[in-house]
Amino acid sequence: MPGAGVPGPPEPHHLALVVAGRRLLLGADGRFPRIRDLPARSDWVPLGTLDGVPAWGGAQPDGEEPAADGARTDEPGRWTGWPALAAEVSAPLAALAGRALQVITWRRSHRWCGACRAELAEVPGEPARRCPDCGLYVPMQLSPAVLVAVTRPGPAGRPDELLLVRHSYGPTELWALVAGFVEAGETLEAAVHREVGEEVGLTLTEPVYFGSQPWAMSGPGVLLTGFTATSADPTAEPVVDGRELVAARWFPLDALPAELPPAYSISRWLIDATRAGTRR
Ligand SMILES: [Zn+2]
Repeated sequence: MPGAGVPGPPEPHHLALVVAGRRLLLGADGRFPRIRDLPARSDWVPLGTLDGVPAWGGAQPDGEEPAADGARTDEPGRWTGWPALAAEVSAPLAALAGRALQVITWRRSHRWCGACRAELAEVPGEPARRCPDCGLYVPMQLSPAVLVAVTRPGPAGRPDELLLVRHSYGPTELWALVAGFVEAGETLEAAVHREVGEEVGLTLTEPVYFGSQPWAMSGPGVLLTGFTATSADPTAEPVVDGRELVAARWFPLDALPAELPPAYSISRWLIDATRAGTRR
């Protein structure tokens, strides 16, 4: 349970999630180490619990980012990235690992008070920080983002069609869903309408909520929320700007491309649920 209260200080049998850059330390047995397996330190940050065992996060002391997944460490073990972990381990463990990455990454970029420039101090038992001079409380804030599976009816006798897009950055070979960050003052649904309008020029019926996923790959605190919606005009074709997106196309649900987002992502859950006709 990421975020669950962790009573008391770290104990030798508690889990230890050490972060360097975008990677986590795994022990020689391929599992997360225990506190007792690592050099003593006093700056463990509470992450939550896994099967009732408290888990703690910490930055790798030398701060060096390992060059690749599987790189050796000083301790017996290896470094692994979140995508590789998430593809391999249970959802609760992947969530805990994602929280460790997000909490530790956030701390590196939130060291000074934004109001008075003093160095922020720890808040015991929380990932938050507080200014010792002016009292400003600095919680770890979330960045909500939306993604949407847009469909339209297919030609007579054919299945519905799903809108997929290709980006000009990141994994450019994937056919993905339209997505974007929510802006201040905006509802999730308004963000869905705006992103689809901006990115492909389509208007939608009212979006329907599907589910959510904390996402450890796009900076600290990203919370993805998924929606389904139907194109308001079934004959409208998507138009891309050529900058953020390089392609956008309707695909019949029985003929989706092979290059889809990974199985551990809410993008894929949305696509698979739409394909199966079980928009939950
Ligand atoms: Zn301050």
